[in-house]
Amino acid sequence: MNLNLADTFNIELPADPMQTNSRRQVHEAAFSTVTPRVPTQPKLIHAAEEVGELLGIPKSIREGIQSKDFLEVFSGAKVLEGSNPYAMVYGGHQFGNWAGQLGDGRAINLGEVVHNNQRWAMQLKGAGETPYSRMADGLAVLRSSIREHLCSEAMYHLGVPTTRSLSLILTGDEVLRDMMYDGNSAYEKGAVVCRVAPSFVRFGNFQIFAARQDKKNLQKLVDYTIKYFFTDIKSEGKEKYISFLESVAKRTLKMIIEWQRVGFVHGVMNTDNMSILGLTIDYGPYGWLEGYDHGWTPNTTDRGTKRYRFGNQPVIAAWNLLQLANVIYLLVEEAKPLETILESFQKEYKVDYLNMMNQKLGLSSNDGSNEKLITELERMLHLTETDMTIFFRNLANVKQEDSFVDFAKAIEKAFYKKEELVGTTLKEWQKWFAMYQVALKNDSSFGESRKASMNQVNPKYVLRNYMAQLAIDAADKGDYSVIEELYQLLKSPYDEQPEKEQWFAKRPEWARHKVGCSMLSCSS
Ligand code: AMP
Ligand code: MG
Repeated sequence: MNLNLADTFNIELPADPMQTNSRRQVHEAAFSTVTPRVPTQPKLIHAAEEVGELLGIPKSIREGIQSKDFLEVFSGAKVLEGSNPYAMVYGGHQFGNWAGQLGDGRAINLGEVVHNNQRWAMQLKGAGETPYSRMADGLAVLRSSIREHLCSEAMYHLGVPTTRSLSLILTGDEVLRDMMYDGNSAYEKGAVVCRVAPSFVRFGNFQIFAARQDKKNLQKLVDYTIKYFFTDIKSEGKEKYISFLESVAKRTLKMIIEWQRVGFVHGVMNTDNMSILGLTIDYGPYGWLEGYDHGWTPNTTDRGTKRYRFGNQPVIAAWNLLQLANVIYLLVEEAKPLETILESFQKEYKVDYLNMMNQKLGLSSNDGSNEKLITELERMLHLTETDMTIFFRNLANVKQEDSFVDFAKAIEKAFYKKEELVGTTLKEWQKWFAMYQVALKNDSSFGESRKASMNQVNPKYVLRNYMAQLAIDAADKGDYSVIEELYQLLKSPYDEQPEKEQWFAKRPEWARHKVGCSMLSCSS
């Protein structure tokens, strides 16, 4: 395979001198060299051609995605000539507690390529043990790999910053998993996904050096990250590190706003799952809001405190940034500028969130106005189970001069129990609609294009939890057509696709409490 390999991470940062693949604490190094495990019988299930193009993978049969070479390289069977695969060291706060060294326990970096002046790192997830595998096997199962592959690409096409997914390959090996952590282990099909992003560095990569008071290597990693991925930072010394935190905060803010816009719940916002580039990373027990609910989390492991619930994502992002600020403090030795950045995050989040919600409502305000209208709407959406995606998408069909009856008709499909729309609930909706009409009257700048602009921020199609599960159930039986169907559907999430209207529907009742549809654990 003829890729333009251009490694930097494993060239410019310190390596773990030990070459054996034994589980251990690794100090004063950013990575350890590892070789992916050779799968028994790899089989390509799906590939995103677009991602292949980003990397410069040719379209031809002989060298492209359908080639033997591709299958070997991206399943881990063959190491690319000139590459030097490795696993990264990182630590992290898991569910609010410092967990010490974690690291790439089942992710193996194949290397970096530069194509069309853009740097991409390629990483296999599920390609076997590394020094960071701790108690686990380094493998991934088909169901979680399908979820990662489909969701990465769906998020990209929704316009949410994310890592990408090149390929989904069955390994032909069996993997033992206790899916709901309830003592019922079973063998499942193993799979490998190749993720692609400019860099896979996480908050935790910096945290591990700080936790060990290894300021020298911390600084090396920050300098490296700025040099390649924050090229607009031109200052030096302390200013440079302050700007770095500021940029990371801005990128993180943007990512969270986008999550809230589309109703995505990450599920495990541990600091080791926070990309330093502000990309959505590590698709595990994530989920999509169906009924709009600030308190919802798909992650059963988080059922107790629901730390990572939808409505808490901005709070946790700020908490995670505080942990990063504590790390950067070692290089800045001054708290004030870092505190200012964290305070602005809170303020800017509020304004940006309101602006984003205004857009969802077809209002052009960009000064954080209409707060009452928005907080009231959020309250209304909780009154009776209301599908987020359908509500906002269909709201675009409501006109300023419409009557309440027209409005109710337009959004009717979003309610799980229409019959609950009576009494005070009905009255409250009438009140809200009256407020909305006033807002529309006062803000007519979108004019005729209001519907079109709303449709650009309110997706018609998202990867509803049960949809991913249907793809998984079919794939388990050897039918990969649903994966392809959903992949194609979600490439144009804002377009009307009349022949695919079946996916613009509320979650069916069978999926309400089904494992995989509404309940997911970290087991993957
Ligand atoms: P996660 O909760 O998936 O973000 O993972 C937390 C940590 O556990 C990371 O260091 C992962 O690399 C590691 N990990 C998760 N699953 C496995 C596995 N099957 N084998 C080895 N390490 C794993
Ligand atoms: Mg992780």
